[in-house]
Amino acid sequence: MSSNSGIQIPSRLPLLLTHEGVLLPGSTMRISVETARNMHLVKNRLLKGTSLKSTIIGVIPNTRDPEYDTEDLPTLHSIGTAGLAVQVVGSNWPKPHYTLLITGLCRFRVAQLLKEGPFPVAEVEQLDKLEQYTSPEEMSEAAGPDGELGELSQRFYQAAVQLVGMLDMSVPVVAKLRRLLDSLPRETLPDVLASMIHTSNNEKLQVLDAVSLEERFKKTLPLLTRQIEGLKLLQKTRKPRLDDDKRVLAVRKGGVLPGRQFSLDEEGDDEDGDDTAVLERKVKGANMPEPALRVCLKELKRLKKMPQSMPEYALTRNYLDLMVELPWSKSTTDCLDIHAARVLLDSDHYAMEKLKRRVLEYLAVRQLKSTLKGPILCFVGPPGVGKTSVGRSIARTLGREFHRIALGGVCDQSDIRGHRRTYVGSMPGRIINGLKTVGVNNPVFLLDEVDKLGKSLQGDPASALLEVLDPEQNHSFTDHYLNVAFDLSQVLFIATANSTATIPPALLDRMEVLQVQGYTQEEKVEIAHRHLIPHQLEQHGLTPQQLQIPQDTTQDIISKYTREAGVRSLERKIGAICRAVAVKVAEGHNVTKSEAAPAESAPQGAEHGEGKRGRRAEEPDGVSADMAAPPDMPIVIDHIALKDILGPHVFEMEVSERLTLPGVAVGLAWTPLGGEIMFVEASRMEGEGQLTLTGQLGDVMKESAHLAMSWLRSNAKTYQLTNLVGGSDPLEGTDIHLHFPAGAVTKDGPSAGVTMVTVLASLFSGRLVRSDVAMTGEITLRGLVLPVGGIKDKVLAAHRAGVKRVIIPKRNEKDLEEIPANVRKELDFVTASNLDEVLNAAFDGGFPGMSNPLTLPHIVSKL
Ligand code: ADP
Repeated sequence: MSSNSGIQIPSRLPLLLTHEGVLLPGSTMRISVETARNMHLVKNRLLKGTSLKSTIIGVIPNTRDPEYDTEDLPTLHSIGTAGLAVQVVGSNWPKPHYTLLITGLCRFRVAQLLKEGPFPVAEVEQLDKLEQYTSPEEMSEAAGPDGELGELSQRFYQAAVQLVGMLDMSVPVVAKLRRLLDSLPRETLPDVLASMIHTSNNEKLQVLDAVSLEERFKKTLPLLTRQIEGLKLLQKTRKPRLDDDKRVLAVRKGGVLPGRQFSLDEEGDDEDGDDTAVLERKVKGANMPEPALRVCLKELKRLKKMPQSMPEYALTRNYLDLMVELPWSKSTTDCLDIHAARVLLDSDHYAMEKLKRRVLEYLAVRQLKSTLKGPILCFVGPPGVGKTSVGRSIARTLGREFHRIALGGVCDQSDIRGHRRTYVGSMPGRIINGLKTVGVNNPVFLLDEVDKLGKSLQGDPASALLEVLDPEQNHSFTDHYLNVAFDLSQVLFIATANSTATIPPALLDRMEVLQVQGYTQEEKVEIAHRHLIPHQLEQHGLTPQQLQIPQDTTQDIISKYTREAGVRSLERKIGAICRAVAVKVAEGHNVTKSEAAPAESAPQGAEHGEGKRGRRAEEPDGVSADMAAPPDMPIVIDHIALKDILGPHVFEMEVSERLTLPGVAVGLAWTPLGGEIMFVEASRMEGEGQLTLTGQLGDVMKESAHLAMSWLRSNAKTYQLTNLVGGSDPLEGTDIHLHFPAGAVTKDGPSAGVTMVTVLASLFSGRLVRSDVAMTGEITLRGLVLPVGGIKDKVLAAHRAGVKRVIIPKRNEKDLEEIPANVRKELDFVTASNLDEVLNAAFDGGFPGMSNPLTLPHIVSKL
């Protein structure tokens, strides 16, 4: 049956010999190309050819044994399928090979082999008609004249319909196949179905060899019936599952995809799978606003038409799942009672009066106005001062859900605003994710560490955050992933930061900054006893009857094991104590259980086997006996127990120890982590008048150092300063090295000015700086002392370090009011307006010694 109409395949075809399967017209097959001959064909024809014709090749099943890669050409099967190479993929692993995706077009017969190498080429005769498009009507006309053929094709068609009818219509592939049955020319059905159902290669080969249509129908009909019977059996034994149906249609190796499905009808697919029906119900019940609902329904419609194996199916499915889960209209009811809020804030937090007052004001305004349009609160302060914890309390007082969004290190705006839904890994941003987590649309969101937002090529997260926070815009916040607006106007945002310096200005502009300062030693002791210890005890399953930490011990933990503005490492140390005690208590239980020791003998019982404990048991005050006491007697942590658990002191009173040489002074620095003391050191050696600076230095710091040096040189005579060779220019024949320890912050350069002058004055005069003094202040070339920032943090740091006298600029005197009274009581404050006053206060007996009738500094101690 040679064709004389429709499309003609080339009369000469290169031949691809495949032993993997049989390609039938109308189906698509993946063929792995490994043999030398086939590799040549791919390289020389498919990869070099440019015309469409050069991508048509003849595929001949190689019936010979897989021992195929022999030199001489095997006897060729006489019938093959002309195929269109749709895709060629090359790979070098595990060995060089290509994978071809080939769609079968029509049968051909090998008329004459034209050449054998490097790949066979043959003169061929086309056997099937290859029409561009044949409507079913035309087809039945074509099949019409022959009565038997007409009947055969009708029977075949019905069997095919029956087979498809037994499969699960909710699987999109099946639904497509059903439609395909009607739109494909009947004469192509045997080939298409034979390649879809379970058939052996041999059976397929017989179908291929059935050149006459009648024979082909006859050959395939039994195969189809067999499949139907098989399915019936399967359905009898168990309820058909999606998997089984899919297995029937599985694209196996050498398996197939329906080839001629290009004219698929996309309309009118109403079959609901269980899955999608449930999803649809959820979509409708999610109470979304109109635009979101419309998008969801559209996506749902698309989903129904997609085969589950398509990557996009999962994408769309995930999207819809998220849309359904989002709290579009779920919210909690605010239960705000200002009186109760005050009680709650007070009971949750000790001290921080200013902050608590402002928070209450904020809540009161909210209660009166019942809108959220107002500045966003931003708590700024060192770590561990309770910023997060206040945020949590606010949520509690309002009866709202709380969610913390950590922004530290976020440098990609899609972290905030989501990724566009174009690839498999795309996901929504943190805001939408947070809403999904809390499940209501009016939570309290704590934007943690807004000062640590990064910036990168992927866009500026700060600008995305602006959109989130701006009450004018955030009612229609559009996450890239969702692609529909979500109303954020009910969300209460609170931000936290360590320092305002690095908050992007536009963002800072929207916020009301509330400074949260570090705590004094006494405040920390109170916080520890009211909150941290009870909390840690509970966390470790201990009771106050089992563990007691006296106030003295807490003082010790604070001063000898921590040096921080907040209470975070204090809390960790208390946690460490709890763990250690938990072990003892547990051991105590074991001892009493296993040895049934009476309470009095327990100390000895617990003592055996550990030398260290033996030692403590011998100590006179019986404290260590407490340590090993049975659980009904509290374990009291005293100094010795503390040292045992936490190890040697981490911070000693090092200030006086380090000030034993001329050329060292204590400066006060401000860092985002709170105030710090820093030791500035200087030394000199013979040289040519060079000033070397090392340590953490910014440009400002270097300038301050030069200012200090110049001022001292110009006043060398007045202050009786000398150089190494006895002259009065400190730099003559001398090199100076000035060192700032790590930890000092480069930005804080200017405020170290007075310290540098003091260090150098000490070095040049050979006198020691007072061991109990710390200082801060900026200097000018003429020796004036200018005000600096962060006085409260700095003073608290000095107090923590055990300093007694603090020198600050005169114009900072007003800042002293912020300092808690008990700290003020314990410190001498010297307010200086020029460097004379600084030096006089920094050296015992004034500077340059009592002989000089310089004005004494104004001491405002014990304010
Ligand atoms: P931040 O957010 O400022 O870094 P956190 O809120 O995480 O600090 O506080 C650390 C720990 O210290 C928390 O367990 C918190 O409850 C506790 N804490 C801090 N300040 C106080 C305070 N004034 N009263 C009670 N507990 C506090």
